[in-house]
Amino acid sequence: MPTVPHASLKIAVKAMLAAMGSGGAEAETVADHLVEANLKGHDSHGVGMMPLYVRNWQAGTLALNRPLETLRDDGPFLVCDAGGGHGQVAALEITRRTVERARETGVAVSGLILAHHIGRVGTYGEACADAGMVSIQFVNVGGHEATVAPFRGADARFLTNPVCIAVPAAGDKPATVLDFATSKVALGKVRVAMNEGRRMDDGLLIDSAGRPTDDPSVMFTDPTGAMTPMGDHKGYGLALMAELLGAALTGGMTIRPERGRDAGIRNNMLTIVIDPERLAGRGPFLAEAAAVVDWVKASPPADPAEPVLVAGEPERLHKAERSRAGIGIDETTWSELQAAATATGLGAARFSELAGAG
Ligand code: NAD
Repeated sequence: MPTVPHASLKIAVKAMLAAMGSGGAEAETVADHLVEANLKGHDSHGVGMMPLYVRNWQAGTLALNRPLETLRDDGPFLVCDAGGGHGQVAALEITRRTVERARETGVAVSGLILAHHIGRVGTYGEACADAGMVSIQFVNVGGHEATVAPFRGADARFLTNPVCIAVPAAGDKPATVLDFATSKVALGKVRVAMNEGRRMDDGLLIDSAGRPTDDPSVMFTDPTGAMTPMGDHKGYGLALMAELLGAALTGGMTIRPERGRDAGIRNNMLTIVIDPERLAGRGPFLAEAAAVVDWVKASPPADPAEPVLVAGEPERLHKAERSRAGIGIDETTWSELQAAATATGLGAARFSELAGAG
């Protein structure tokens, strides 16, 4: 399993994106996002996505260098169409504009529609928190066969519809960033398990007949199985709301087959940004939030080896460790990356050399 330094991995991924034809800023943003996801422990949304991006680019479902088109700009409301362009770029741009608007209006609500994969949604929650804002994101995935069954269902009706809520840092307390898929696990984690030859835990998957299974390959064979929603009826309800708010409310592409299937990825995202100054007041809110986090974290750990954490902390711990030790990439993902580098014209040897593994 190659372990590569994050800085050189980013250079290699950026070179692959540039070989596809992305301009410098686009290649930089996407490479930065993917490597940051690896650094933060979310390999499912890291550089292992590149082979899929290359396939979508070849199939014409990922557009390069596509500017964001503003469909509505009306007081606190903003709606933008990404036109199938790189989602990491589009989502960062609309997040920045929503934050700017919330500085003027106290609260701002935006809809991003038809973006190619926006990746780790926490990236956008973190950007809002860094700007001192509270944020809530609901995201759906359209354009693709469903992968997640509703509670009590035997086939898939959603994708992994993530939700993110972020609260800014207070004094020496880092931001609290809750960011998860509404399936029990993200599809990328099932892919990583299959690539590593591991079985999944019980309760995460059903096969194509609706029977429980621990075999990750059911998600990548035809007919496919499905993943189960987190939290049974509660997670299923959240997934449905991500569909209704992330796509139906924003005017984006819902998962209904009638809205189209091009086998690409169409992320649609509702973002709500709130300036805490307009509610409790920034100072009192952040002081109380920090005190609440302290109170919660003071719970004695049931297992002394596993202290109580708060959302955002596992990502910071992973980043500290992987920044130092490098990013391990499993053999299957590595060979897929090499094939993708060949397909872009960069070449497998050059990719390995740039990544620091050659
Ligand atoms: P996950 O199950 O690892 O949960 C992550 C969340 O739980 C984070 O907020 C983390 O800080 C928190 N957390 C983890 N362990 C904790 C602990 N012990 N105590 C307290 N909090 C803890 O994440 P996931 O559901 O596998 O999602 C992974 C990523 O996939 C997310 O970044 C999500 O945005 C992304 N995703 C994107 C899409 C898309 O279409 N773009 C779809 C699905 C998921």
